[in-house]
Amino acid sequence: MKCLFCEIAEKKLPARILFEDVHAIAFEDVYPQAPVHVLVVPKKHISTSLEINPDDNWLVGHLFQIANTVAGQKGIAERGFRLVMNTNPESGQTVFHIHLHMLGGRVMHWPPG
Ligand code: AMP
Ligand code: ZN
Repeated sequence: MKCLFCEIAEKKLPARILFEDVHAIAFEDVYPQAPVHVLVVPKKHISTSLEINPDDNWLVGHLFQIANTVAGQKGIAERGFRLVMNTNPESGQTVFHIHLHMLGGRVMHWPPG
């Protein structure tokens, strides 16, 4: 079975894209859990955070830079937002291509569910 986020990155499936460069893409989550819910996804296929190699360290940092840019675009940077990366089933990971959730536009609670 094809990877959903590889297919979105390759434009084989539609998405509401907010940012894209040669290394990564950011698009709206189809089932938003907050007024702002954006997924920041590397174009390189990495299944889970456990598969991030030292060579990928810059790429993971890049995902955070993109999340900051999109938070600014959405006007929530100063109010605050939450960045989440789920790893494996107990965390709730359902798409096995790493992605940073950027959630905001409402008060976040702690501990998370
Ligand atoms: P996770 O559960 O951490 O693996 O996150 C996967 C996220 O992908 C969920 O928040 C889903 O709502 C979202 N999602 C699933 N399919 C799509 C899609 N086609 N376009 C955008 N987001 C999606
Ligand atoms: Zn993939």
